[in-house]
Amino acid sequence: MDDPRNVIILGSGCAGLTAAIYTGRAGLKPLVIEGLEFGGQLYTTTDVENFPGFPDGVMGPELIDRMKVQAERFGAEFLSYQSAKTLDFTKQPIKVTTGNDETYSCQALIIATGASPKQLGLPNEMELRGYGVSTCATCDGAFFRDQEIAVIGGGDTAMEEALFLTRFASKVYVLHRRDELRASKIMQDRALAHDKLEFLWNTEVLEFLGDPEDGLQGLRIANNKSGEEGSLSVHGCFIAIGHDPNTEILTESPISLDEQGYVAPDGRHFPFTPIEGVFVAGDVHDHHYRQAVTAAGHGCAAAIDAERYLAG
Ligand code: NAP
Repeated sequence: MDDPRNVIILGSGCAGLTAAIYTGRAGLKPLVIEGLEFGGQLYTTTDVENFPGFPDGVMGPELIDRMKVQAERFGAEFLSYQSAKTLDFTKQPIKVTTGNDETYSCQALIIATGASPKQLGLPNEMELRGYGVSTCATCDGAFFRDQEIAVIGGGDTAMEEALFLTRFASKVYVLHRRDELRASKIMQDRALAHDKLEFLWNTEVLEFLGDPEDGLQGLRIANNKSGEEGSLSVHGCFIAIGHDPNTEILTESPISLDEQGYVAPDGRHFPFTPIEGVFVAGDVHDHHYRQAVTAAGHGCAAAIDAERYLAG
């Protein structure tokens, strides 16, 4: 174990990187434990059109890369491809042990581990991940040039993924379990007007057909109103049905989680937790706004409160 750090930040999404910029600029030399997937959700996003200061939009990965460079400029240190496995809050300094059993310690900890895409939970879903089933259009869309593919979900993420995929696919089926979309009006309008998108309403996937050797061969689907079953011949399917918070590391801790697993307010307002010196930021506690700019704001607030805690 090395000397205690002032601040360790868990997570390298918008919240974690903003916290790194602020604590770095305050001269606290933060250590950022990036997590196994650098950059969080923005890193698998395409155009970000609503982050202030980018009137023409900015690609998610570019925005994240720029934040990292900005944090490094102020002395933040990054631990790549590693995530925290256990946290010991029982005494100061706080101890963080990573997946490869290295232990780091700190006086203040900012937990910004974000949220990850939800799974449908169908039998061979995980087996077919990377073989036709995906949760990232930016990563895998180009594999389906001139093909018909499917997107599952009715929220903003599903609309964004479906619209992005029209750049490659000849047709994109959008399968939604209800007959109205949850997505914002602007995204709904764009998606419903696009001639490459076909909406299959009240439709659920019962089974992914195929195996890793031959890849995804199609979907067995059902209309949940009529009960009618059928199949859809697609070799690509993108699941965009929301997110689960990355809070497994906190399940045994004194930090309370709500019924969906998000960090719950516990007497004190965010970014504070019941543990002195431990702060939370971003989607790990926010299932209401879940925007890049709000996550960045939470990262800023956690950094300022961590700085004041250390000064005190
Ligand atoms: P979301 O808003 O929670 O939508 C999830 C969608 O998946 C819903 O339509 C839901 O159906 C469906 N769904 C959930 N579980 C399902 C299941 N097991 N089987 C089938 N369908 C299922 O999640 P999101 O789209 O990821 O968006 C999350 C937040 O990020 C939102 O606040 C959104 O506005 C924001 N966001 C914003 C932008 C943007 O502004 N450009 C882009 C992406 C995301 P029901 O509708 O029936 O519940």
